[in-house]
Amino acid sequence: MDLAIENSSLEAASQQRLLIENDTREQIAFSAGCVQGYEGPVLAMSERRLRDNAQKFKSAMPRVRPHFAVKANPDADILRIFNEEGCCFEIASSAELQAMIDLGVDLETVFYSNPIKSPASIRDAAEAGIQWYVVDTPEEVIKIAAIKPDAKLYVRTEVSNEGSLWPLAGKFGASASGIQSVIETAKEYDMEITGVTFHVGSQCTNIKNWIDGIQSAKSIFAQLEASGWTPELLNLGGGYPVQFTGDEPSIAEIGEAISKELETIPQSIQVMAEPGRFLAGSAGCLVTQVVGLATRDEKRWLYLDTGTYGGLMELADGFHSNIISQRTGETGMWTMAGPTCDSIDVFGEHRLPTNMEVEDVVFITNLGAYCTTCACDFNGFPVPKLVMVD
Ligand SMILES: *Cc1c(COP(=O)(O)O)cnc(C)c1O
Repeated sequence: MDLAIENSSLEAASQQRLLIENDTREQIAFSAGCVQGYEGPVLAMSERRLRDNAQKFKSAMPRVRPHFAVKANPDADILRIFNEEGCCFEIASSAELQAMIDLGVDLETVFYSNPIKSPASIRDAAEAGIQWYVVDTPEEVIKIAAIKPDAKLYVRTEVSNEGSLWPLAGKFGASASGIQSVIETAKEYDMEITGVTFHVGSQCTNIKNWIDGIQSAKSIFAQLEASGWTPELLNLGGGYPVQFTGDEPSIAEIGEAISKELETIPQSIQVMAEPGRFLAGSAGCLVTQVVGLATRDEKRWLYLDTGTYGGLMELADGFHSNIISQRTGETGMWTMAGPTCDSIDVFGEHRLPTNMEVEDVVFITNLGAYCTTCACDFNGFPVPKLVMVD
């Protein structure tokens, strides 16, 4: 009996490994065209995968309308593709608002989900026709009341970020007493709160966080009703993970649990989510090149032409990554670093062939989100060029 359990979990583990290996192979295949005539780092984005991810998300939770979190990757072609796939959008700044205007979407469907907005950006949004604004402090309610008194507000509640690789709790999200003062301020300023949102943190692998969020939204809906408002929006936020190790729950599993919990939410309430990483992440593979090798006190160092400043900030912070070379053979640990002269431009130890050479091309998978958009050309090293491939 014990042996059978062990065998089946071993089998599951090897299936996960196979899944990741296949996925990695596919990502290298779609970016292979960027290797010939290499001129600098490239983020290859697969159009097919972007469309696929949008469809997967929608079929995993049919009641939930996806609003792509523009900050994950604001490239105009990516926005166009998600728009064609029927996704809506979530923004956090005037520049992201402008991207929506350029895209030509109906601005009433765009949600302004940054809890702290400058007065100037609220004016821009109000003028453009944005209806929905998030709040999680009384101060923000007052700020919006002065600029757009007929705004539709949704309140962001705090929720556990346990099990998220990139937690967002603490900076945003109102506690129970915070929610109460947001509600009181809204009443005082004659503003209406009819929605609830939360954010479980990015790359969240703990399904329970969304379930807890939905449950606390239900009790906040009751508070809103008690204040004389009619709840109409539940916004599940972002955080849906990319498969880096195969241990992450799939979008189908997450969707199943969320859909089940949503059965307790009245049909009169529209449900949306704000996936960023999930929609774009696995559609992007970074193609980069080795610029130098070094041995320093027994440690083998490998320097790439892009690094912490060039889009690999999350790797530097210990995020999962799959780094692959075309070279084969015996592998060993390399300390990886970017090309700049800054000592923070180092991103951990990774396994690669021991016979790596300068000018070898290296692939880093799952970088379609938060790579180029977080990159700058510090020290004169160009940010990876985004190239759309099939
Ligand atoms: C960043 C962010 C998202 C997207 O998060 P992902 O982890 O990329 O899915 C969604 N909503 C808000 C308010 C955000 O700040």
